Amino acid sequence: MSEFEEKVCLVTGGSRGIGRAICEDLLQRGAVVALTATTEERAQAAARELHPERAHGYAGAEKDVAKAVVADLGRVDVLVCNAGITRDNLAIGLSEEDWNSVIETNLSAAFRMMQALYRTFMKQRSGRIIAISSVVGLTGNAGQANYAASKGGLISLTRSLAKELGSRNVTANVVAPGFIETDMTRGLGDDVAALAAKATPLRRVGRPEDVARVVSFLASEQASYVTGQVIAVDGGMSLGGGW
Ligand code: NAP
Repeated sequence: MSEFEEKVCLVTGGSRGIGRAICEDLLQRGAVVALTATTEERAQAAARELHPERAHGYAGAEKDVAKAVVADLGRVDVLVCNAGITRDNLAIGLSEEDWNSVIETNLSAAFRMMQALYRTFMKQRSGRIIAISSVVGLTGNAGQANYAASKGGLISLTRSLAKELGSRNVTANVVAPGFIETDMTRGLGDDVAALAAKATPLRRVGRPEDVARVVSFLASEQASYVTGQVIAVDGGMSLGGGW
C-alpha cells in the first residue's frame, strides 16, 4: 500500500504553481486529490491533466466545496490552504480594494475552508491542516503590506487551530516559502529573480517541487507529532544578514 493510498487531500489553488506541484506530489504518493481554482473549468481541466481518476476539480464558496468534496470522496484527511494572490504597492498608495482582495483571498477564504472542515476533522479524530504562508509573513516586506499581513495572519490562524484541534489528533502547520519560480514571481522579471537568488544562501530561487515535498512530509504519518510549526522553505533566505 502506498503512503497516501485512500487519503483524500484538498488543495486550494491547485491549478498552477506551488499548488499544482503539491497535487502532483500527493498523487505520486497515491492520494486522491481535490483541487480548487478560480473557476470550475480551470479546476477540472487541471484535475484531468494531473490524473484522470484520482484528481477532481472544484470551485466556488468554501462551504460548498468542502461539502461537495466530503459528499463525493467520503472524507478529507489533508487540507492545504494554498490559494493566494498579490496586489503590490507601497502602503501609502495601497487602495482599499487591493487591501481587501488580498486579505479576502489569502486569509479569509483560508479561514472559511478550515472552518468548513472543522467538524469533519473532529469527527474523524484525525486530519492535517497545512497553510502556505510566506517568509514575508514573518519579516514583512516593503510594497507588500497587504500580502505580508495576510500571510502573518495565516500563521496565527493556523497556530490557533493547532491548539483547538490538537486533542482530536488534528495537526495544523505552516509552510513559508521564499522566492519560488511560478507565474506569481515570473511577472517580476529575471532581474528580480537573480537578486532573490543572490540574497539566498543556497544561491538559487526555489522550485514548486521544493515546497511540495515539505507539504507531503507534514501531511504524512512521519509528521504526526509536529503541530503549530512554521517551516520556511526558502533556501535560507529568511536568515537575513550576510553570508
Ligand atoms: P500562482 O502561480 O499565481 O498560482 C495561484 C493559484 O491560486 C492558481 O492555481 C489560482 O487559480 C489559485 N487561486 C487564486 N485565487 C484563487 C481563489 N480565489 N480561489 C481558488 N483558487 C485561487 O501562485 P504560486 O506562486 O503558486 O503561489 C501559491 C501560494 O504560495 C500562494 O498562497 C502564495 O502567496 C504562496 N507563496 C508563493 C511564493 C512564490 O515565490 N511564488 C512565495 C511565498 C508564498 P487559477 O489558475 O484559477 O488562477
